[in-house]
Amino acid sequence: MSAPAATALHVEHRASLREFNSFGLPAVAQTLVHVKTEADVRRVVDHPELGLAPKFVLGGGSNVVFTKDVVAVVLKVEIGGRRLVRETADAWIVEAGAGENWHAFVAWTLAQGWPGLENLALIPGSVGAAPVQNIGAYGVELKDRFDSLDAVDLVTGRSVTLDNAACRFGYRDSVFKHELAGKSVITRVRFALPKATAPVLGYLDLERKIAETGNAHPDANTVFEWVCAIRRAKLPDPAVIGNVGSFFKNPVVSAEQCRDITGRDPEIVHYPLPDGSAKLAAGWLIDACGWKGKSVGRAGVYEKQALVLVNRGGASGAEVVTLARAIQESVYGRFGIRLEPEPVII
Ligand SMILES: Cc1cc2nc3c(=O)[nH]c(=O)nc-3n(C[C@H](O)[C@H](O)[C@H](O)COP(=O)(O)OP(=O)(O)OC[C@H]3O[C@@H](n4cnc5c(N)ncnc54)[C@H](O)[C@@H]3O)c2cc1C
Repeated sequence: MSAPAATALHVEHRASLREFNSFGLPAVAQTLVHVKTEADVRRVVDHPELGLAPKFVLGGGSNVVFTKDVVAVVLKVEIGGRRLVRETADAWIVEAGAGENWHAFVAWTLAQGWPGLENLALIPGSVGAAPVQNIGAYGVELKDRFDSLDAVDLVTGRSVTLDNAACRFGYRDSVFKHELAGKSVITRVRFALPKATAPVLGYLDLERKIAETGNAHPDANTVFEWVCAIRRAKLPDPAVIGNVGSFFKNPVVSAEQCRDITGRDPEIVHYPLPDGSAKLAAGWLIDACGWKGKSVGRAGVYEKQALVLVNRGGASGAEVVTLARAIQESVYGRFGIRLEPEPVII
């Protein structure tokens, strides 16, 4: 069979999405387009049928829960490439295609001698999805190292470049979850990796590593190794047990609400925020309601971390959602706090 012409869109019909979501949930895309270049996005926009159809943009599928077959045209972003854009006096500006694997990109920047992303090691998924929920871990968020991104509008086919302010990053949040939700495809992301950065170590698990190893001044590669080891010990590997990482966001409550809650439950795990509000540990709330290790149908709560819901084998998206709702109800019943799901539920 000859290779497809360089300009032909790679379109599949009735394509299984099971391999393309880290929960391993069964779902079929009526139409799936493998988007390998910016020009492919524009070809979809200009296409007589695909152009008018609703669309769903898919990266690595590690933050989606498919509860049914997808009627919208699925655009699976596979745009590759990574490069140093320029070096300034203060930073390396590094760019990656949206389809690049996030962890491989982090490892590559470190191998080049450009630290800054090590705390975000081993987060599953693609570079292009990372700004959507402003991924974060171990005291660093994407926005702390972000320079700009390119995106293509799914209606006009026009390219835009957005800087940090335009992306309106928040806790697991950005403009791509609001005004631009489903409206554009992020095609390339640039990072500013500061030359004078010091390792970010103010996080309990990293402080434990310092105490264990006696190394109070780890370099970026050591922090990278530590973060990988901590995550492997704590989180299920999606290749073995289907999951999407944290299923709920940590709820943020006002100082007054926090005083009220800690007055009733003094041992509740919470982190004060600079503006006086507090972030409560959602995993602690779920555990306190007795959910750790429990199951509803073939969906369950991970034994080692109550914030992670898992596929115990053959679960459907509906079972996952039923379990999530039951958890939300019991947390609300006991603490009066509404937990908000972190993944996109389709
Ligand atoms: C074991 C595990 C651990 C995790 N740990 C963390 C963690 O520590 N911190 C954290 O923040 N997250 C974590 N996550 C969640 C997940 O890895 C991130 O949200 C990741 O960025 C999702 O990437 P993805 O490519 O799989 O996105 P997908 O799941 O494919 O998509 C997620 C959302 O982004 C949109 N999207 C995807 N690509 C694009 C694009 N190119 N343009 C526009 N929109 C796009 C989709 O439409 C969807 O709305 C974890 C997940 C797992 C399974």
